Amino acid sequence: MLSWLRKSSRARKLSPRAKQALFRNAFDYAPIGMALVRPDGAFVRVNPAFCHMLGYAEPELLGKNFQTLSYAPDFGEGFTDIKALLSGTNTHYSGEKRYVHKSGELIWVMLSVTLVRDYRGHPDYFIAHIVDMRQQKASEQGLKRVQRQLEYKVRERTHELASTNLALKATNHRLEQLAQYDALSGLSNRRELLKFMAYQLQEARRYHIDWCVIMMDIDYFKQINDQYGHIAGDNAVKAVGEILKSCVRETDMASRYGGDEFCLVFPHTTLPNARVIAEKIYKRIKTRAIAGDSGQSFHITCSIGLAEWRFEVASVEQMLSLADKALYLAKSKGRNAIAALLDT
Ligand code: GH3
Ligand code: MG
Repeated sequence: MLSWLRKSSRARKLSPRAKQALFRNAFDYAPIGMALVRPDGAFVRVNPAFCHMLGYAEPELLGKNFQTLSYAPDFGEGFTDIKALLSGTNTHYSGEKRYVHKSGELIWVMLSVTLVRDYRGHPDYFIAHIVDMRQQKASEQGLKRVQRQLEYKVRERTHELASTNLALKATNHRLEQLAQYDALSGLSNRRELLKFMAYQLQEARRYHIDWCVIMMDIDYFKQINDQYGHIAGDNAVKAVGEILKSCVRETDMASRYGGDEFCLVFPHTTLPNARVIAEKIYKRIKTRAIAGDSGQSFHITCSIGLAEWRFEVASVEQMLSLADKALYLAKSKGRNAIAALLDT
């Protein structure tokens, strides 16, 4: 430590010539660009790194105004910085700017400038340090490009995922429909009916709620198929589906029990009220014209059995069997009829 102090104090006593040589070496062999510029903007001295950076030989630059190398759009900012140095508002400035290479290529540099004043305090010359930023800018741009590509990929993937999600939702919806509804009539299927009835039975047993079941069957459906064709038969099933849906409330259940049999459940409904609905269904079915296979239309009738729940009925099967018995009664009356078990 002491020996270093001794050495550095010796260095302070260098002769003017030795000092000049020291400065020249530091200037000429600096790995970054350096320039001395007169207050009027003319280059007084430029180092090899600066010449190499801009593609000029030293004599081409000496005497030239530094502004001739600057990229025109950056003039304004640079001018303000220089004025601040000359007026003494600032002692130093640095910032990124663009120079124009001899080939015309634009070069990003980091420029740092200080002003040296003479013994009277008048501006003597600027010292400029110029660091080539080309590599850094190229990497920055490369990074930005990669970032843009990534962002594009993320957007693309997000879009794909959203479409897949939509397709999945649609598929799920279709699957749910398949699991709960009968495709031809659009009514609930037998599984949903049994679930609904099981719940209804529990509620009724606990809270003593009235509820009724209607079992309905198309009369002589086999003959309709034979006479008008299978598609006409399908049209009849669709028509019955539409009619049943239009005759029940949200809280009721209308289902296709199987083939040409349909079952309806009416919570909070007494037998007389269920009979009113049964009659409405019966009339609408009877009066509905159904399209046949070859342009003609035909009509169908149905038989309807009504059953009202009683406390002794402790299972869904028992309740269905009651409604089935009532339907059998309507059929045995000659079809095209409504019957309840108490009607006998
Ligand atoms: P009944 O008056 O005693 O009810 O006699 P029916 O002919 O209606 O009853 P049956 O049980 O003998 O025949 C039912 C027919 O319903 C047999 C079957 O071909 C037909 N069927 C069942 N499901 C469909 C369907 O989805 N479409 C068509 N077109 N016919 C069906
Ligand atoms: Mg039938």
